[in-house]
Amino acid sequence: MRKRILLVSLLVTVLAILIYSLVSTQLYYNLMVEQEQGRLSVYVNMFSPGEYTLDNDGAKALSQRLEGTRVTFMDGEGNVIGESAAEQIEPDHSDRQEVIEAMENGSGYAVRSSDTLAQDMMYYCEAVTVEGSVYYIRVAQVLQSQWSMYVSLLPSLALYFIIDVFGCLVFTFIATYFVLHPVEELTRKAAGGGEVTTRYSELTTLTEILNERNRNIEWRMREVEEEKKLVERAQDSKNEFIANITHEMNTPLTSIKGYAELLSSGMLNGEQAQTAYRTISSQSERLSNLIACIINYNEIDDDTLPPYDVDLSKLAREMIEVVRPEAEKRNITIIDEIEDNVIVQSRHELMTQLVGNLTRNAIRYNKEGGTVTIKLSYKKLVVADTGIGIAPENMDKVFSRFFTVDKSHSGKNGGFGLGLAVCRKICRRSGWKISVESSLGKGSTFTVDFGRR
Ligand code: ADP
Repeated sequence: MRKRILLVSLLVTVLAILIYSLVSTQLYYNLMVEQEQGRLSVYVNMFSPGEYTLDNDGAKALSQRLEGTRVTFMDGEGNVIGESAAEQIEPDHSDRQEVIEAMENGSGYAVRSSDTLAQDMMYYCEAVTVEGSVYYIRVAQVLQSQWSMYVSLLPSLALYFIIDVFGCLVFTFIATYFVLHPVEELTRKAAGGGEVTTRYSELTTLTEILNERNRNIEWRMREVEEEKKLVERAQDSKNEFIANITHEMNTPLTSIKGYAELLSSGMLNGEQAQTAYRTISSQSERLSNLIACIINYNEIDDDTLPPYDVDLSKLAREMIEVVRPEAEKRNITIIDEIEDNVIVQSRHELMTQLVGNLTRNAIRYNKEGGTVTIKLSYKKLVVADTGIGIAPENMDKVFSRFFTVDKSHSGKNGGFGLGLAVCRKICRRSGWKISVESSLGKGSTFTVDFGRR
């Protein structure tokens, strides 16, 4: 940038100097020619017929008086009759421009380049009448040529050029300092991130562009950071999931392995062998239940299965009938507060799991003779119980995979701690919010908010 400014300013000023010197040389030369013309016409007027003879001697005498100016006398036809110069000249001068003009107008000028470029000759010719006959007197003066005049200017031009380079350097420094410095300052600050401001209106657009760019970078960096966190979280969650599955599988497998070994040793009596067979059978079933639960949990994310209108009122009433025998065993009353024709966008098997898990939990974690209330409106589904409740420190965890409050009961009745995790996943898929309110020893209320107003 700086180099370019220096180069352009140098080019402009050098061109200006050249043009200026050429034009001024031309003007000066024209002025000099004009002055010389005046001087030569005065010289011719110094001739008086009686004083000088019209031959070589007369010409030389007049030349001497005119400080060595060359003098030529010609007759009325332009033939040379007297010449002050020593060299031989052509006798007939009638074709010379100044002579032709003098023959026509009484006087004439001409400037001709001499053999060397350094000199021009200026001629002035005037008609005079001597004893009734017309003669022509021509005086000639050496002029400095325009070219030699220009050449003589070259040393001064060189000096101006040096001054020019210096001037351009100063100009470039000032230009770059006052013009580029604020831009450099702005970009330097912008490179450090954050918002930048300027007091120069010319730089407002640049400032806006830089700020916009910084905002985009910041936004992208935040996005990358969030994506990174999500990936990390997903990885953690995957590891935890695998650890949990391994743990859940290990217990029944150890039991199966132990009893199988005992059976094969032949050490068990008939009754003990029966117990061993029953345990192996129940633990195998538990294992296959666990696998089925995990497969089911993963299938909830299957996007290839499209949602459709599900009559949730009907589904919830059917579910009450399914779980009623289980409730009756413990004298638990189910209260139906289900409104008719509540339709939701989902899938039948998903809604069966959502309502089933919440209702079964409300029975399972209830007290003898307690109640379970199922409320359904177009806004929300509420499953409330009068059971054991959830401790405040566990409220956030109940929706996590494989979380069970009472570990010793984990696995009984298929409770792997996946029921509420499945519910949360189903709700997320539909954009619903699932939450819980609970009081330890008094009961819990699970609410699914459909997000409708
Ligand atoms: P589980 O198969 O163990 O029931 P869930 O995911 O359904 O798994 O529930 C996780 C845990 O949350 C349960 O182990 C239980 O401790 C607690 N919980 C769930 N529902 C209730 C409820 N209605 N009342 C009290 N505790 C509950």
